Amino acid sequence: MDVTDHAEELASDLGVDKEEVTADLRNLLEYSVPIEEAKQSVRRKHGGGSGGSTPTPSSVDVGEISTDHGNVTVTVRVLSVGTRTIRYQGDDITIREGELADPTGRISYTAWQDFGFEPGDSLTIGNAGVREWDGQPELNLNESTTVAVAGEPIEVDYEIGGDRALIDLEAGDRGRNVEVRVLEVDSKTISGRDGETEITEGVLGDETAKLPFTDWQPRPTVEPGADLRIEDVYIREFRGVPSINLTEFSTVTPLPDPIDVAEDAPRLPIADAVDSGGMFDVEVVGNVLEIRDGSGLIERCPECGRVVQGGQCRSHGAVDAEDDLRVKAILDDGTDTVTVVLDADLTAEVYGGGLDAALAAATEAMDKSVVADAIAETLVGRAYRVRGNLSVDDYGANLDASTFERASDDPAAEARAALAEVRE
Ligand SMILES: [Zn+2]
Repeated sequence: MDVTDHAEELASDLGVDKEEVTADLRNLLEYSVPIEEAKQSVRRKHGGGSGGSTPTPSSVDVGEISTDHGNVTVTVRVLSVGTRTIRYQGDDITIREGELADPTGRISYTAWQDFGFEPGDSLTIGNAGVREWDGQPELNLNESTTVAVAGEPIEVDYEIGGDRALIDLEAGDRGRNVEVRVLEVDSKTISGRDGETEITEGVLGDETAKLPFTDWQPRPTVEPGADLRIEDVYIREFRGVPSINLTEFSTVTPLPDPIDVAEDAPRLPIADAVDSGGMFDVEVVGNVLEIRDGSGLIERCPECGRVVQGGQCRSHGAVDAEDDLRVKAILDDGTDTVTVVLDADLTAEVYGGGLDAALAAATEAMDKSVVADAIAETLVGRAYRVRGNLSVDDYGANLDASTFERASDDPAAEARAALAEVRE
């Protein structure tokens, strides 16, 4: 039997117009709904009862789904669709991931086959599994799941489609599209799951922010200075900041007009920057409260670069440690604090001398701590403008400074004003 025959049979059963039934059926089949499921769905639409034997789980609101649910039926709007290959039990499988929403909330999903839906589609998804992912419920669309066009469009308050400014990207985002200028590109060989693989890494920018990226399928169009629309990327956290990932499914299209790139890093109250969970190239202004231990003249393991105490590296045991300069300063703007880390060059600037000068001072005083003391004397109680990459983990927030300059303004007052503006 073909679709027309099925439609004829249904139309006569239900006593409705055959053209309409045919259109409904074709619509469902386009979404890879098996014919028996499609017929049931059309029967239900025309009030003909379920007519089938498969019990469909009851419909629930997205906002009510918890990890206690087994299988659910939802009527939702598709917010995003991302494509990715994952290795599952030894095989490479192409999956779709993204978010669905109804008026009560939104939820992430993973589809283990291509149901053919796109952002903006309104769907009734039957018999979707609920699993826990990262403490949150997530829908699992598998071979027992049915996907049908919803009777009417589902209105939702969330943004539909994947287009985002860089500043709005967060780790975990799927199926995002960005319009960016390529700022830096480096080739790199890594040992991946299939042996040595060539990838590229670099930095992308738009007028809101700059972010690092990795292209797992290096393509020549992603070159410094190129203005590109990149579709279907996913975001993951890399060294504490969101990182854009291009896969074999990402598409790259050159843009006719240049993309404006933010010259300045976005300036945020420390509380907001820390709340964001990590930022690439951000600026904060605050007062230095104190200099932490491990500042000034320090020793590093020549093998791994870790700071060592008494010549003992945690990984390499007794080593011939190398002298280095570093500052870990606690910066406070009245909204929160962050540990600012200055490398040897920035430390030399605030100390007023490099490694040789620091070693000479330590030798003369027969005490290494004189270097940290001198730095504390300069920094503590003064306001600084700091730009760099912020990472946030269980141990706190660290800002790896790329610039560190005296600020003349009152950072606490300014941060409070900015925070009030953001939260109004
Ligand atoms: Zn080491």
